[in-house]
Amino acid sequence: MRTQKPLIIANTKSYIRNLKDFYKLQDKIWQLLDKDSYTYMCAVPSALITSIANEEYKAFSVGSQGFETYENGAFTGQNTLENIIEAGAAFVIVGHSEERKFLAEGDDIVNLKVKKSLSKNFRTVLCVGENQRNNEDYFEVIKNSLYLDLQDINKKNLDKLVIAYEPLWAIGAVTPATSEQAQETIILIRRTLVEMYGIDNAKKIKVIYGGAVSEENASKFINEATADGVLVGRACMDADRFASIVNDLYR
Ligand code: 13P
Repeated sequence: MRTQKPLIIANTKSYIRNLKDFYKLQDKIWQLLDKDSYTYMCAVPSALITSIANEEYKAFSVGSQGFETYENGAFTGQNTLENIIEAGAAFVIVGHSEERKFLAEGDDIVNLKVKKSLSKNFRTVLCVGENQRNNEDYFEVIKNSLYLDLQDINKKNLDKLVIAYEPLWAIGAVTPATSEQAQETIILIRRTLVEMYGIDNAKKIKVIYGGAVSEENASKFINEATADGVLVGRACMDADRFASIVNDLYR
């Protein structure tokens, strides 16, 4: 029997055009959702965190899609971890493949961010992925990312860590990973975490799936692929689709 609520994280990327429409969307989602059978977190752009957090939505906790590694100081245009926390973020996504690509962010930077964030006991969603399903190396790619991105982190706060498996070939695509593909990778991630931290510590870390999650496939990732939750991109901007994803998780 399931003992924990599935974790649904919406990643609004840069889809929010104006707050009026976003609030309408969230009001509709709130009306459609079966309450209490999930944990809903929503990552929004840094510039909008405070406004959205101040609306005090009952449906979700507000998070940030990222921060820069600088300390507070003479770094024009950079959002520090302290800034996003002060703005009202309750969690942060780190190492998303779009950030890794657009900002040419390597595992060294991702590691700095995870270290910083966990040292503040701040909920941290680390994304790892691969782009080589046709090549047997994909297991190695995931394992290496975990070792590099989690190097020297504060192990006391592992309960604040979530790992999101987001295959690059599924993000923004029509077809997600199959439940078998997601399951084998989720197992690999869990095994690697056990190798790194021991079984009791590894159990504290949630492992979720992201990449073309939709109302047609979300329940498979939870019920067949054994994910602890899903990370939803495009579909979180459509109230009916998003509510179906959440409400049908136990299907
Ligand atoms: P899509 O759900 O739009 O494929 O995006 C996935 C993603 O990148 C979530 O972080």
